[in-house]
Amino acid sequence: MRTAPSRTCLGCRRARPKAVLVRLVRPSSGVVVVDPGARAAGRGAYVCPDAACVERALSRGRLAHAFRKPCEVSPDLATAVRAAARRRVAPELGDTSRESDARTTDVVAVRA
Ligand SMILES: [Zn+2]
Repeated sequence: MRTAPSRTCLGCRRARPKAVLVRLVRPSSGVVVVDPGARAAGRGAYVCPDAACVERALSRGRLAHAFRKPCEVSPDLATAVRAAARRRVAPELGDTSRESDARTTDVVAVRA
């Protein structure tokens, strides 16, 4: 065993240092979400912040296998993975697009 904890990427199946992977969790709703702080309880799945890996990993079959339960994949999940990875891995890039990824627009209808 090496010192750095490693996890297997769901996309490429390679063991990578946990710190470079994005953690996914499956809440009881069954809808898989990103766990940016890697603190959510329960079983996690990991994916490299790599477009090819994300695409392969975020199939229902892969996720259901990883979590051993049926999973739903939101259309926003790939975006959320990339946003989480950008925040963690490359903050020095100064990529401002992450703001639009991370925030949902609150539409508040105000009627007099
Ligand atoms: Zn991978």
